[in-house]
Amino acid sequence: MNEYALLPWNQVHFAKLAKLERSQHLGHAYLIQGQKGLGKESLVKDFSAYLFCQKPDKKNACGDCQPCHLFSAGTHPDFKYIGLEEGASQIKIEQVRDSRNFLANTPLMGKYKILLIHSAEKMNINAANALLKNLEEPASGTLLFLLSHQPGLLLPTIRSRCQQLKITRPNEDVALQWLQKHISEEQAKLCLQLTFGAPLLALNYANEERQQERREIQKSLLELLRSELVINDAAATLSTYQIDDVLEHLMLSLQQILRKLHSDGGSEEFGPGTLELRDIVNILTADAIKPLHKFHTKLLHARSAVQSTANPNVQLLLESLCYQWVKLLRLKKPTALAV
Ligand SMILES: [Zn+2]
Repeated sequence: MNEYALLPWNQVHFAKLAKLERSQHLGHAYLIQGQKGLGKESLVKDFSAYLFCQKPDKKNACGDCQPCHLFSAGTHPDFKYIGLEEGASQIKIEQVRDSRNFLANTPLMGKYKILLIHSAEKMNINAANALLKNLEEPASGTLLFLLSHQPGLLLPTIRSRCQQLKITRPNEDVALQWLQKHISEEQAKLCLQLTFGAPLLALNYANEERQQERREIQKSLLELLRSELVINDAAATLSTYQIDDVLEHLMLSLQQILRKLHSDGGSEEFGPGTLELRDIVNILTADAIKPLHKFHTKLLHARSAVQSTANPNVQLLLESLCYQWVKLLRLKKPTALAV
């Protein structure tokens, strides 16, 4: 079982899928959509474990039979996961072709072969077209789960061939109750607020490794403002992290800076791992609010570029963002952008 087995707010979706399966009405392809941090993957893994299990009860896999052991070890032969490979910005056709071979064979252990495609919107056009064939002519016993927080970016022909399951944010009490099993009440409240009510993102935000990463990124922003770092070096530092993560950290940091400036240095709390953010806010004045909003727009454009299938040059994108950060805040003459 995965670490977050049966997240309380996803039990209703699990129950729905299990009921469909019991009445033999389960579709062969589902598009599970919903914002990041709600446990879409966890839901599919819980449900897969349940389908593979030899002795499930109504709500769960037993965790004890051979298929359960294989599944929790990540070695169940009838389950395949594809998503972005390390450092890649797209899911490639080779990955989908491999999974087509996987799906073409009959299940080895039970009734189903299950393919989970994480961040399905990251499939490039060739990969998406290769997948279409599976959606059009599914082999019996195959189950496809496409996960996406941006289903609008999927090919319409793919969307229309999947049944849709939408995961929504849990109410705050449910989210806080779950978070407090992992972090303090104070951290839970703050992190949940910063991550727009998505509990897994909130937990991730509080994670020490992520805090460290966030601080490194904020340190680069701070050093750019203090002219202690040139644009190319700052971009090189940022490029050591996944671009999606960098953009997410930048967005959240910017929102916190803006909130603080809008509240005129009021008592708004910063999240954990944000020492550098305090220093940035100390340098900036209320005059920076407008340029910061402009920078936010730049970040949104950068995110769209990364999320499109245009496959932008990440190093150039980061250099451009660092350049904008310095230029918009006009605290120093920007260092020439080497391209
Ligand atoms: Zn079992």
